[in-house]
Amino acid sequence: MSQQQQMGGQPMVILGEDSQRMKDRDAQSHNIAAAQAVSESVRSTLGPKGMDKMLVSSMGDVTVTNDGVTILGEMDIDNPTASMVVEVAETQEDEAGDGTTTAVSIAGELLSNAEDMLEQDIHPTAIIRGFDLAAEQAREEIDEVSRTVDPDDTDLIRNVAETSMTGKGAELEKDVLAELVVDAVQAVTVDADDGETVVDLEYVNVETQTGSAAGDSELLEGAVIDKDPAHAEMPTSLANAEVLLIDEPIEVEDTDADANLQLDSPDQLQNFLDKEEEQLREKVETIAESGADVVFCQKGIDDLAEHFLAQEGVLAASRAKKSDLAFLREVVGAEVVSDLDALASGALGAADVRFDDEEELFYVEGTDEESHGVTLLLRGSTDHVVDELERGIGDALDVVAQCVSDGRVLAGGGAVEVEVARRVREFADGVSGREQRAVKAFADALELVPRVLSENAGLDSIDTLVDLRAAHEDGNGTAGLDVFTGDVVDTFDAGVVESAHAKRQALSSATEAANLVLKIDDIIAAGDLSTEGEEDAGGPGGAPGGGMGGMGGMGGMGGAM
Ligand code: ADP
Ligand code: MG
Repeated sequence: MSQQQQMGGQPMVILGEDSQRMKDRDAQSHNIAAAQAVSESVRSTLGPKGMDKMLVSSMGDVTVTNDGVTILGEMDIDNPTASMVVEVAETQEDEAGDGTTTAVSIAGELLSNAEDMLEQDIHPTAIIRGFDLAAEQAREEIDEVSRTVDPDDTDLIRNVAETSMTGKGAELEKDVLAELVVDAVQAVTVDADDGETVVDLEYVNVETQTGSAAGDSELLEGAVIDKDPAHAEMPTSLANAEVLLIDEPIEVEDTDADANLQLDSPDQLQNFLDKEEEQLREKVETIAESGADVVFCQKGIDDLAEHFLAQEGVLAASRAKKSDLAFLREVVGAEVVSDLDALASGALGAADVRFDDEEELFYVEGTDEESHGVTLLLRGSTDHVVDELERGIGDALDVVAQCVSDGRVLAGGGAVEVEVARRVREFADGVSGREQRAVKAFADALELVPRVLSENAGLDSIDTLVDLRAAHEDGNGTAGLDVFTGDVVDTFDAGVVESAHAKRQALSSATEAANLVLKIDDIIAAGDLSTEGEEDAGGPGGAPGGGMGGMGGMGGMGGAM
């Protein structure tokens, strides 16, 4: 690697001693290899038969997951190109809540195919243009092959929920959980004035509780708050209570924070304490006089104030989460009060409030007409189980909400990919020059999905693809892979239904990432540019490392097909 530029025969030094530089093919190969390492690290998790990964952080925390974005998020990646691919997964997660593994896998496959074209001296600009053309066409074809979903078609929507839970912790109790997800989304779905269907997921809160089976999870009206009453003498069950939400502490206000208190006699101390007690008593009186029976406070409550509140028969909880307060505001129809002295009538909300001793949870059900909000209470035996459950359910909520508002769904199990690939190949015939190669390479990359689904199910991916292509040539646009039997079936009818929005987004993110990597022809690094980064990208701390090499081989085979 040259750190010098030639100028009039004289070497001109423009980079520092330690910096390194890679150009053109070297730079491209380096970047492509890094991006592929990331892509290959998640491929083995794709689909219902995908494997899980165990991630061990530097602190020793263990996460077991199958979720692409979680895996990449927990991996300690310090290669800049690899990080760009990780961003694809994050964008996908933010935009769609699902399809992260698909997006990252396709990005890697696009780059693998690009590498072949670069080998044959096709200029990156032509490849990028071809990929862009193909991606745009593919998105159009997705719209073309997608079907409309009626927001009231509970069976179809449940299929979407179940498909999105595939391979996640939520899968074990898929029946129960998919039902809950659908109910939750339908509970917050409204028909807007302009005829659009609007789903407001802010009104769905997800709360987790360890100690029982995932199948015991439930959907509740209102909020569930994981807090204890501030004082043992407080009431624990109040029907039609007035609820105060407050985000300032119910404590003594230190008027002069830094002033030293000079106490010369026990009387003075007593006097001082009396004043403090007086202040707290006044605060509690203000609360009681407002008519509040229940108080959720985001900050601390002084011990003495807790005692006074208990004496007044008020149920209070301190240090509630800010997000809980925001949700409670919707549920009970209250304002969040910041200053007790300015407590206005009408700031309080109304709810039935019950504290469950055994579960150590508050159940708050709004009784106001304005009240809205439901809580998905997810249960699982251990923290690991509920964490993975929460991720899966969160994604399913996003996906189902999207399907209901976007109204478009697709046949999964590789069906849509094979169909869109077929259509993009037809489109390629009308594209001239070197871009045509890239458009076809894009179509090939889409078929990575059925190939990997098949591979992960222990099937022969070449056979699978041949069968699928044949079915689509015969006009079966929804023919996909049943990963459990290895047969080609109509996956739409079989209930493997995906969100069209997530798929469109996955193709966009994958193309963007691949093109971003291809555009780079020069790497100038301030430090060492060894291949260390690539290895890091492939090996999270405690992941079973063996899989990586094997996946590399599969990627190679993929490129050849
Ligand atoms: P992603 O992170 O991309 O969502 P997943 O591991 O969730 O990755 O796998 C999604 C893929 O698995 C999709 O292509 C989907 O169609 C497919 N899939 C899900 N359930 C089934 C099923 N029962 N049979 C076949 N394919 C399925
Ligand atoms: Mg998924």
